[in-house]
Amino acid sequence: MIDLRSDTITTPTDAMRQAMFEAEVGDDVMHEDPATKQLENEVAALLGKEAALFVPSGTMGNQLGVRAQTSPGDEIVLEAEAHMYYYEVGATAALSGVLCRTLPGQRGLFTAEQVAVVIRPDDVHHPQSRMVCIENTSNRGGGSVWSLDRIAEIAAVARTHGLIMHMDGARLWNAAVAAGVTERAYADHFDSISVCFSKGLGAPVGSALVGTAEMIARARRFRKQFGGGMRQSGVVAAAALYALRNHRKRLADDHVNAKKLADAIAGFAPIEVSTDHVESNIIRFETKMPAAAFVKELRRRDVAMLNSGPHVVRAVTNMTVSSDDIDAAISAVGEVCQQQQVA
Ligand SMILES: *Cc1c(COP(=O)(O)O)cnc(C)c1O
Repeated sequence: MIDLRSDTITTPTDAMRQAMFEAEVGDDVMHEDPATKQLENEVAALLGKEAALFVPSGTMGNQLGVRAQTSPGDEIVLEAEAHMYYYEVGATAALSGVLCRTLPGQRGLFTAEQVAVVIRPDDVHHPQSRMVCIENTSNRGGGSVWSLDRIAEIAAVARTHGLIMHMDGARLWNAAVAAGVTERAYADHFDSISVCFSKGLGAPVGSALVGTAEMIARARRFRKQFGGGMRQSGVVAAAALYALRNHRKRLADDHVNAKKLADAIAGFAPIEVSTDHVESNIIRFETKMPAAAFVKELRRRDVAMLNSGPHVVRAVTNMTVSSDDIDAAISAVGEVCQQQQVA
């Protein structure tokens, strides 16, 4: 099967398993796991920050970023379809007691002007604006990539008002490759960054929250409180470190594959896909038949995609999908489209 449902579906490579096998481990809750510390040090250095914390999921990375840097009743600003708001089970409310002020975005992106408008005045009636969250790349935005300029403008507004800048960088690696800038160039504008190792990088488990040593120490306590303190986590951290060191550059292949798929299927009536908007490894396109039926038909042809709206299908290129697989996926989509036309 050609699995384009998500970039989370990858399984560890032999080299990764070897790294896991060889990992030097200890009890990480006691801060004695060398492999975990190594990963934390390398990811912090890569992003130009003081410290990092290995966590089981991107959700926990984001939510620890919120928990460690806000107080109950504070307000955070984010895009209306941001993962932190849309897909994290209401955790901002449940775990941190913060309000979300959502901005309508364009493919997940918003502007400094939009942020400036919603920042609360210093008035006893208002919640305190505390944080701006930027998702790079934007998942529901179709893998859209933020420009450094736009981020710099938003950061300037945030700083003026004393707001924290947090990046949901689940796919920061993709953004850096697509934009041709370093991860650090993005990170320089942020106080905290959450990154995932288990998406495009292909590690089996894990994410990290990155920021100042002081903030990360606080997040470490909350990680324990959230039930995310892990013992010999080096076994999985070693896979994440292998992925971090070896799998970032190859994301360019996923982006080429995504573009190839999008360009080809854009020619199939009645698919609507704006191929200019395929900037990284995510493709979202509209179908005439219900997306669930479309996906089911594809699956019969051994191609898996996800229905992501009543008439929206999502495909995500990843390490398991070769250029030849993309050719096969294009044929399968073509067949289903033809069937649609007839039906
Ligand atoms: C996948 C993802 C996350 C984290 O997801 P987990 O399943 O909790 O690891 C966070 N943000 C974005 C944009 C994502 O795509």
